[in-house]
Amino acid sequence: MPSMAQRRAYLNGEPPAWRGTEPYWIMIGFRQAAATAIDALLIRRLAPLAAGDWRASAVLFAPHPDDETLGCGGLVAKKIAAGADVRFVFVTDGSASHAGHAAAGRLRERREDEARAAVSRLGADAGRATFLRLPDGRAREHIPEIAAAAASLLAIWQPECVLIPHRLDPTPDHVAVHAGVSAALRDHGQTVVVLEYPIWLWYHWPWVRLRSSVPGLTAAAIRQTLTSAAGLRLLSAFNAMAFVADASEAKCAALAAHASQMSKPADNPNWVTLPDLSDGDFVRRLLADHELFLRRVVNPRG
Ligand SMILES: [Zn+2]
Repeated sequence: MPSMAQRRAYLNGEPPAWRGTEPYWIMIGFRQAAATAIDALLIRRLAPLAAGDWRASAVLFAPHPDDETLGCGGLVAKKIAAGADVRFVFVTDGSASHAGHAAAGRLRERREDEARAAVSRLGADAGRATFLRLPDGRAREHIPEIAAAAASLLAIWQPECVLIPHRLDPTPDHVAVHAGVSAALRDHGQTVVVLEYPIWLWYHWPWVRLRSSVPGLTAAAIRQTLTSAAGLRLLSAFNAMAFVADASEAKCAALAAHASQMSKPADNPNWVTLPDLSDGDFVRRLLADHELFLRRVVNPRG
């Protein structure tokens, strides 16, 4: 077996001297090569976002605190730096991320504080964050409320662009936010550019390893690998991309603001963090140089 230092070096992208000497590592090498090949195909096919999209005022709907950064933090940081007015709507309260390890009320408060800190690290005033406080994990029971809240916020703010979870993102709360905000956009009547951002859509082979020590995630990875045809279905899931490597400092700083999701408390080794998922594969994927989107225009003029 390779040593921990060799393994870390490999995961950081340094060429491993021992590649090909052991079946497990050959498999990882094959998986990363497959991910790189599909990425290259995707990037070649996708159009860069139009200049107008970078400057457009926007409202970002995040099912949970941290989705705003994981899904499109690079784009948002660059938009804010370019002078665009960006508002953030956090739909659920995030209180169920560590059920059994932390009291829901305490976690709700902590995650709101973290969300405000992330918003300011992305470059906006923390007051740009709005919290709908729906119960984490149960947004599907509240789609009409999400639609009603989104309708009134859209009517007040009149954004040129709206960011929502991708239609293929499989997590129930993400499905609910997509459905609720999409319904509001249809009734809104104004022309809006919609950018659908993926998060859990990436949670499958070849981007993450199938086996996970986190309960339930091995089954999720296998299921999504099958439904996505090992990533090939993603080739038609996007039509636009944003180069965000030059915003990685802001994106990483905003992600670190979500300390409840990124760091393990010293007294609780069983507290699952985002870097725990597939030994860091998942977070690494979400911090890639490009953010990908499905871009569409609702109520187009003319
Ligand atoms: Zn989420």
